[in-house]
Amino acid sequence: MTSSLNIYKTIALTSFLALVAVQYVLIYNTYELKNRQYNLEEKRIIDKSYTTSITNDKLFPGGTPIIEHYLSRNMNLFEKLYQTDRKEFDKFSERVSDSLITELRKKSTMDSVFNQIISKNKLSKDLNYLLTIESVGITFDGVKFINLFDKNYKHISPDIKNAPPGVIISGTLENPNLQNEITRLTVSMSYRHAYQVTFYLFADHNDRFFRVLSQMKFTFLLSLLVIFAVTVIYFITFRNWLRQKKLADMKSDFINSITHEFHTPISTIMVANKSLQNDKISSKKENIENLTDVIERQTLRLQTLFDQVLDIAKISGATLEKEEYDLNEILEEILLDYRLKLTDEKVTITFNKKNTIPSVRLNRFWFTTMLNNIFNNAIKYNNKPCKEISVTTAKGEHGIEIRIKDNGIGISESHVKHIFEKFFRGNKSKMNSIAGLGLGLFYVKQCADAHGWQISVSSEEEHGSEFTIYIQ
Ligand code: ADP
Repeated sequence: MTSSLNIYKTIALTSFLALVAVQYVLIYNTYELKNRQYNLEEKRIIDKSYTTSITNDKLFPGGTPIIEHYLSRNMNLFEKLYQTDRKEFDKFSERVSDSLITELRKKSTMDSVFNQIISKNKLSKDLNYLLTIESVGITFDGVKFINLFDKNYKHISPDIKNAPPGVIISGTLENPNLQNEITRLTVSMSYRHAYQVTFYLFADHNDRFFRVLSQMKFTFLLSLLVIFAVTVIYFITFRNWLRQKKLADMKSDFINSITHEFHTPISTIMVANKSLQNDKISSKKENIENLTDVIERQTLRLQTLFDQVLDIAKISGATLEKEEYDLNEILEEILLDYRLKLTDEKVTITFNKKNTIPSVRLNRFWFTTMLNNIFNNAIKYNNKPCKEISVTTAKGEHGIEIRIKDNGIGISESHVKHIFEKFFRGNKSKMNSIAGLGLGLFYVKQCADAHGWQISVSSEEEHGSEFTIYIQ
């Protein structure tokens, strides 16, 4: 049972994980696809408008004079230092770059250019941009360009690691990358003492990730639905399978019990009969009496067993015929009969009755069998030298109550909820020595249901159990 249960659980878990993995790949691919397609039209419009607005200019309208101011007038010095002292050239390049970038940042008109592009083209107001310079180079011969700073330059922003390296000039976009790159422009001239600038414009929503995700609502919903449906199907199948398995186990336990229970009286009767056929034994009258007593007792036992099995079939189909009884009176009678049946066991049965109990409509035969079953268990599952049963009638919150308490072995917490099930028998190792078919309490529950009553049990291991019948 446990090994097949584990196999089932492993298969269920593995296929569930596989399903989740497939869903993950599906969602990931859909995201990538949507992300690539996101804002394509907006990007195209911004690119067109931006390129138009900086025709004959660099970075932003008014960018060229600033760049020329810092580069052109220093060109002779740059050339001299480059040819004589490279270290000095590097230092001077850094100084000029610092001043150029500070000035470009200060004078940037890009905010208003971008806002104009947005409002003119009626684009989303939540769009942000980022303007960066990748490199600034100078040439002394119109052929070879020398970069004024490289990717280790201190102003290269660490925030734009995923994007091409660059120095931020203006803008507030937090996640520049290849997906939201609008344009990369290199403006260069090929004459002596000229310069070359490469710059980028990025534009996007800062919450692009969530915007793309929100476009995938349907995919998410579908995935969740599939995972939920599969989980529910697994759960239902698993539960049914467990139920079937339990029922099959209980049935095989029942067959074992019934075989054992029927086998003992039958083989005893057969032995007694064989003895009766033996002339030596049957010649003595007392032997015959003893043996017929054995046969009678065992036949009665067989009769009880048959009744127990047949009662189950009867009660489930029959319509109950009820009559009015005084509850205390009928209980006194049942207890009297029961006490008479008790043989030599040390059993004390006490009855605490509440006098003001109204009369109750019940089927006498079934009510008696029901109580007898509870009493039998109270004695069977009891290893105390003096077995005590107390029957109490009372008026409780939910109507009349009959409480039957014993000082027996009690029932473990895990078994209590199963004891009214068909064929259920408690702890197998303890039960082997105690006869039973696992039908007694099932019958009790059926009787209670047929009368429209409730039954509950509270129990503590080694201290005893209390069954309460609630009569509405
Ligand atoms: P059976 O007695 O034939 O096993 P029952 O349906 O009468 O079947 O009882 C089901 C199980 O409930 C028993 O096997 C036993 O473990 C437990 N049980 C019932 N009554 C008592 C009791 N009074 N004290 C302890 N255990 C009980």
